[in-house]
Amino acid sequence: MAFAISTRNAVAILVTLLLVSARPSSSTLQQDFIHCLVDNTDMAFPIRASFFSPDQNATLFKEELESTAQNLRYLTQSNPKPVFIFEPLYETHVQAAVVCAKKLQLHMRLRSGGHDYEGLSFVAENVTPFVVVDLSKLRQIDVDLDSNSAWAHAGATVGEVYYRIQEKSQTHGFPAGLCSSLGIGGHLVGGAYGSMMRKFGLGADNVLDARIIDANGKILDRAAMGEDVFWAIRGAGGGSFGVILAWKIKLVPVPATVTVFTVTKTLEQDGTNVLYKWQQVADKLDEDLFIRVIIQPAGKTTKTGNRTISTSYQGQFLGDSNRLMQVMQKSFPELGLTKKDCIEMSWIKSVMYIAGFPNSAPPEALLAGKSLFKNHFKAKSDFVEEPIPVEGLEGLWKKLLKEDSPLTIWNPYGGMMSRISESETPFPHRKGTLFKIQWLSTWSDGKASEARHIEWMRDMYSYMEQYVSKKPRRAYVNYRVMLESGGLKYSDKDWLMELGGR
Ligand SMILES: Cc1cc2nc3c(=O)[nH]c(=O)nc-3n(C[C@H](O)[C@H](O)[C@H](O)COP(=O)(O)OP(=O)(O)OC[C@H]3O[C@@H](n4cnc5c(N)ncnc54)[C@H](O)[C@@H]3O)c2cc1C
Repeated sequence: MAFAISTRNAVAILVTLLLVSARPSSSTLQQDFIHCLVDNTDMAFPIRASFFSPDQNATLFKEELESTAQNLRYLTQSNPKPVFIFEPLYETHVQAAVVCAKKLQLHMRLRSGGHDYEGLSFVAENVTPFVVVDLSKLRQIDVDLDSNSAWAHAGATVGEVYYRIQEKSQTHGFPAGLCSSLGIGGHLVGGAYGSMMRKFGLGADNVLDARIIDANGKILDRAAMGEDVFWAIRGAGGGSFGVILAWKIKLVPVPATVTVFTVTKTLEQDGTNVLYKWQQVADKLDEDLFIRVIIQPAGKTTKTGNRTISTSYQGQFLGDSNRLMQVMQKSFPELGLTKKDCIEMSWIKSVMYIAGFPNSAPPEALLAGKSLFKNHFKAKSDFVEEPIPVEGLEGLWKKLLKEDSPLTIWNPYGGMMSRISESETPFPHRKGTLFKIQWLSTWSDGKASEARHIEWMRDMYSYMEQYVSKKPRRAYVNYRVMLESGGLKYSDKDWLMELGGR
């Protein structure tokens, strides 16, 4: 009988109903949290203005939740939502938030720039209730040229950090990410590579000190946290070893003239052989030169399927175009770079060029913290130690041509990256790594085609296994993925527990 309910089922339903009604509502949890915050700080500000919850104002809550979230896959209705978002204005508020989350048994997700590939800064699967502490209002940056350093608060974007440095000096820079809207908080804690890594290493290699909050709400600097924790926070991944409040970073020298270029080769323009050559030279080039390759299908899809593969070589050279031409003639003439391809500019403009801003955009555009990449996407990464043979590349082209909007970006290593020991920081991909691959598939119709794209990614990733690092196959922690079957699920990690907090 369709409506017959067994006694066992009836009891189960009753228990569920009781549990649901016993669970405190989001406004009760928020009230308790606020009372706890007030008890733990001298909060002399309109505290409610720092809270966003669906009960209070669903529209505002949605806007705040979505504000910096990059991967739209994690904003669908079926994704779990925080009971509220708290946006601290002062460091003491973050300290109190840690104490109160622990006291009230609320799982806490930290968000700086919201670029996490799997939405880990604003979604928690199987951990309820959870709250998001969003650090975007803690974004002060103090640059001190005398000590060649800067303090940057976690909520600042890397674009803001670059801007504030160049505001004081045109010959100082910082070697972190290529995308200007990344949050410095969650970025450096996973390593942070960028276009100057061959010369200066990662962002994390250039961290001098940090201020973190531990599970007891205490603020610790490098001396107080000790060298082991200081080691761990420079590359082991976000949300793991406490709340990063601010980083003290070392500035690096940049020349007044930097040269950039983009040269594109399709398969019909000998693209496969040029890429084969790039794999042999990219990690050995002059350390002032960084050439990454952006690879994707190009041309229209027709019934005869005549799309091709385009390989775009995007370069940044820390010097003028005359010297760049000499370096290229000697080391990589196969690319056919000409003086006409070269554009000389300041370092900050070169950063913007690589980040995808139009040449006309002023440096102030970096202060908007606006992301140029918000999408439904799935990504993975690989490290390569031997050049992928031509037949391997040809097989990859076939895979790429099967997918709607795939993209793969190959970033060269070598130089300073090879001179830093693999145990210096938790980021071990050093000597012997030729380049890192980022695999991406993007789409715009939400859940409708998701399964198809994930399936494509798995198939392509499985095909590439033979050509990439082995035992273990390695990946970049800042592009971490939810493991599809078994193993560690990062979303299940509870940073408070890792700190021994509860
Ligand atoms: C479009 C795009 C471009 C990218 N380009 C690059 C690049 O050029 N180079 C590169 O190295 N990486 C790049 N990444 C990866 C990027 O470094 C990571 O996604 C990084 O974690 C982003 O930091 P966030 O603060 O913006 O992210 P969030 O989503 O805010 O945080 C990421 C993780 O860190 C945790 N976290 C956040 N803030 C803190 C904090 N203050 N203390 C402790 N844990 C915290 C979060 O809980 C989460 O687990 C890119 C990502 C995207 C989406």
